[in-house]
Amino acid sequence: MTHANTTPRPPGSLRHESSYARRARKFEDVSLSRWQDWHWQQRNRIRTLEDFEGVLELTEEERDAITLGAERFRVAITPHYAAMMNTEDPDCPVRAQAVPKLGELETQPFELRDPLAEESHMPVPGITHRYPDRVLFYTSHNCPVYCRHCTRKRKVSDPTTAASRAQLEAGLAYIRETPTVRDVLLSGGDPLTLSDERLGELLTALREIEHVEVIRVGTRNPVTLPQRITPELCDVLRDARPIYLHTHFNHPDELGLEARRALRDLLDAGCVLGNQMVLLAGVNDSPEVVMRLNRELLEQGCRPYYILQCDMAEGITHFRTPLERGLEIMAHLRGRIGGMGVPDFVVDLPGGGGKIELVPDSIVSDVQGPHGRTVTFQNYAGETFEFVDIASADS
Ligand SMILES: *Cc1c(COP(=O)(O)O)cnc(C)c1O
Ligand code: SF4
Repeated sequence: MTHANTTPRPPGSLRHESSYARRARKFEDVSLSRWQDWHWQQRNRIRTLEDFEGVLELTEEERDAITLGAERFRVAITPHYAAMMNTEDPDCPVRAQAVPKLGELETQPFELRDPLAEESHMPVPGITHRYPDRVLFYTSHNCPVYCRHCTRKRKVSDPTTAASRAQLEAGLAYIRETPTVRDVLLSGGDPLTLSDERLGELLTALREIEHVEVIRVGTRNPVTLPQRITPELCDVLRDARPIYLHTHFNHPDELGLEARRALRDLLDAGCVLGNQMVLLAGVNDSPEVVMRLNRELLEQGCRPYYILQCDMAEGITHFRTPLERGLEIMAHLRGRIGGMGVPDFVVDLPGGGGKIELVPDSIVSDVQGPHGRTVTFQNYAGETFEFVDIASADS
């Protein structure tokens, strides 16, 4: 027996479980204080087949994918995130997001290297400026865990593209000289890979730019490395508040004790928390799972912001769901959870078309009635209701 958490578990959240208590036998002798040290977590990430064998009961497919895939896309898992997996169930939703499968090695004719054309909208390296008022600012190409479904897989897999200090300066200079930019979204990779000092400098520099009204940080650290949310980091974020922090929970099993603690500390530091879920086959493509996730996030003060349709990026087609599935999930949420728990379902169009919101169709008919145009709607429960519209003043 090499594993601590081998008992099959019923579906349900791990809300009362800590990753420390669930840690693999391999880490049995690690003290709680080391486990809570994010540098230790980074240093002890699971990367090689040998590391994997020490923490999981691998399937034949996973073993092949780890061996063959390592050259194509980076692989790394924090001991924390590994501990949230069911070590015996290859279909575990946490495991499916971090352990490679053979689907990654297949190439589909429609898959794109840069699915969102982020590079062709780069006025300077490291900035994507697509919408007039906001930019994506890539600050790092490293992440604690490399998600198998990552849209920027190609970039996070190329260590030669890491943002240098000079590149960060050039990005800041571009924002300074572009007064239409009111909203800056720090992205990556994961911006919390930067040191507190570096991040603090960046946030301070952005705050000093008069036309920058909104600063956002997109990070998966609360999920994959909640130990990164230290009092020192919270001080840096508090000094720049309010920071809109977009995180990336995809399943309620990711919300264990450490993740909850991290979210609470971020709230205390004045962050406004939002979640960007990616819709993934076999992970969260069911209304019940999304409902449970959204309820638990709201309970933690984190508002579901987007459900993102999985992109046409290379090596992630095995995660994609039909558009119809997302619409079903949206139709299920509406009416069964308050509006704060209903995010927007968006497709980020290939080629840089931007995000489009998809909404379940609620109009059953639209006819001219005795009192004017009569629209018949269907509500979440399938009941229909008539609404008499008025003519617009200019027609
Ligand atoms: C998603 C995205 C943003 C942020 O969009 P919001 O819808 O405001 O969250 C900004 N720039 C680019 C290029 C994006 O893809
Ligand atoms: S944390 Fe984000 S950028 Fe990093 S691998 Fe996961 S999805 Fe990609």
